[in-house]
Amino acid sequence: MSAAISVRNMFRYFGPLKAVDGVSFDIPHGSVCGFVGANGAGKTTTMRILATLDYPTMGSAEVCGFNVVNHPDKVRSLIGWMPDHFGNYEHMTVLEYLDFYARALGYKGEERRRRIEEVMNFADLGPLADRLSNKLSKGMTQRLCLGRVLIHDPQVLIMDEPAAGLDPRARVELKHLIRILAEEGKTIFISSHILSELGEMCDSLLFVNAGRIVHHGDAESLKLGSDATGGVYYDIQVDAKPESVSDWAILNPDIEIVESRKRGARIRIPTADPAQAAGLLSRMVRDGVRVVEFHREERNLEDAFIDILSQIEQDGMPASPPPLAQPQPGRDLSAPASAAPPPPFPPPPQAPPISPNPAVQHPDGGT
Ligand code: ATP
Repeated sequence: MSAAISVRNMFRYFGPLKAVDGVSFDIPHGSVCGFVGANGAGKTTTMRILATLDYPTMGSAEVCGFNVVNHPDKVRSLIGWMPDHFGNYEHMTVLEYLDFYARALGYKGEERRRRIEEVMNFADLGPLADRLSNKLSKGMTQRLCLGRVLIHDPQVLIMDEPAAGLDPRARVELKHLIRILAEEGKTIFISSHILSELGEMCDSLLFVNAGRIVHHGDAESLKLGSDATGGVYYDIQVDAKPESVSDWAILNPDIEIVESRKRGARIRIPTADPAQAAGLLSRMVRDGVRVVEFHREERNLEDAFIDILSQIEQDGMPASPPPLAQPQPGRDLSAPASAAPPPPFPPPPQAPPISPNPAVQHPDGGT
């Protein structure tokens, strides 16, 4: 089965600036992928292309097997796009706002009432139904945006910094909702600067730097370190003077003493291969270092990310692939990418319920 999101050798230029520089990745159906990168790394641009709001200059992007340029209507019916900033309307209550979008999506009568009720229950918007939508707190506003995004029950959610600016409680609430959506089997592509939170909820993390993917892997291997993150760290405790470790390390140049400690040292070895660690330990013991504790350190994701960036600084960025992808049919790629306006919004698909509860009152009785 094809991936839920599949990007191949994708570029997006803004004049001379390569905002997206030869990016390729797959996100399997039903998985949660965190998209991480510094400001200006190209996250929003990549997500906007997937959301059919912009075009790649070259290369391709598909959602559930549908090319975002050639089948934007189909893609829009499959995705829920939660932008980092979203427009609001004055003098419109939460209920009216959702009703407006449900109408725009083409839902009618009882079905429209049911869809609104379900998203309101899911995002806990019931108590806010009569509140003006532009007078909500940031956390409430994000829940309203999530509710709106879910009206047509999309299979794939693309969320650009949904937790930005939320207080800790609102972040926990949002994380909880995202977890439920993941358990329902939705594919979620989410960007954030708060790496520790992404690590908890994501099956994989995609690191981007200056428009290029620099790492794609699971959070656990990042925490434990790998060859790609510049090696793994071990905490060694000895029943002797700590110098016994550093003296021994001088004779073993594959080991770096990162920090000498009261009763040992923190060391780094360049590979995550467990056989190397086992060999290292037996060598130490054989050479008379009185090791009483030897364990692999778990690092936080921020450190792992910074390690990857420093590794790139040392080795240079991975070469971007040559932009050889064929222009996609249906679009003149000689024109500036931003010149072509995205096509209109699609008709809604049939949506199954999210969670039943009859508590929501419809503004016009559901006709
Ligand atoms: P942030 O975390 O700050 O949101 P980001 O990773 O989402 O950053 P993008 O918004 O994708 O980064 O921007 C990538 C680069 O492309 C930046 O240098 C940005 O200034 C530039 N850029 C984005 N949109 C445009 C545009 N419409 N015209 C010109 N440059 C743009």
